Amino acid sequence: MAPPPDMRILVLANQKGGVGKTTTAINLGTALAAIGERVLLVDLDPQGNASTGLGVDRRNRAASTYDVMMGEEGFKDVLLPSGVPGLAIAPSTLDLLGVELEIATQKDRAVRLKNAFANFHAQQQKLEPGERFTYALIDCPPSLNLLTMNAMTAADSVLVPLQCEFFALEGLSQLLATVDQVRATLNPRLTIHGIVLTMFDSRNSLASQVVADVRGFLGEKVYETVIPRNIRITEAPSHGKPVLLYDLKCAGSQAYLKLASEVIRRERLYRAA
Ligand code: ADP
Ligand code: MG
Repeated sequence: MAPPPDMRILVLANQKGGVGKTTTAINLGTALAAIGERVLLVDLDPQGNASTGLGVDRRNRAASTYDVMMGEEGFKDVLLPSGVPGLAIAPSTLDLLGVELEIATQKDRAVRLKNAFANFHAQQQKLEPGERFTYALIDCPPSLNLLTMNAMTAADSVLVPLQCEFFALEGLSQLLATVDQVRATLNPRLTIHGIVLTMFDSRNSLASQVVADVRGFLGEKVYETVIPRNIRITEAPSHGKPVLLYDLKCAGSQAYLKLASEVIRRERLYRAA
């Protein structure tokens, strides 16, 4: 039998805030876990919204991605179970805000996360294949800072949430240039996995035009699945739950399930290539 493929590392990045990075990290992670993947969500945003949204109380974040970035703990030591079977979270705290300054002069400042994943990978190899993580999703801060650079350096592929609004494409060229830059220097295998359009409001006549424009500009890189604006998605984090657990039948949950199967389909294509 062929050995199982290694854990795939996807990073959710967009330097704009409020576009759906964290919501997509939580719910894509949950949807992937629901279809049998074993997922590690890495919260790399000092705000810690992914941790909070999965119900991890701040008091339970004694060890966090801060310690991982500082080289003091491994992922194995900081990850916590979430309420979702098959989904674990490496939580973040506000300490992460200080990391950039603390490691600014270190030679390995951009490869801290990559090294942590390498160690984690080595530990995972000792486990039975069925116990190993198959995906890591990294939730980034709304900035192209050193944390995001670390994520892109560690990752296989970038997934870009783009909000369906008039200025959707604004700033995208800067993001794509950063991906190119990381690929040219620190991580030659980095690819763009896809662009996911979020918060689509069918009552807004502009929204369909935005979708058409983005597809016209970015072509097949845009996932077919469009995430609708959905009140249940907004409500779920305050219950410390992914929307898939909060209301499986709602349009938002169904869209994230669809996105997960599309991500897996693309994975097969990319791996076969
Ligand atoms: P980011 O991580 O990019 O800053 P978030 O995922 O935190 O963005 O989303 C910003 C806000 O929009 C949050 O309050 C979130 O609950 C809400 N939100 C995200 N996606 C949707 C959606 N599809 N429908 C309704 N609200 C959404
Ligand atoms: Mg966020």
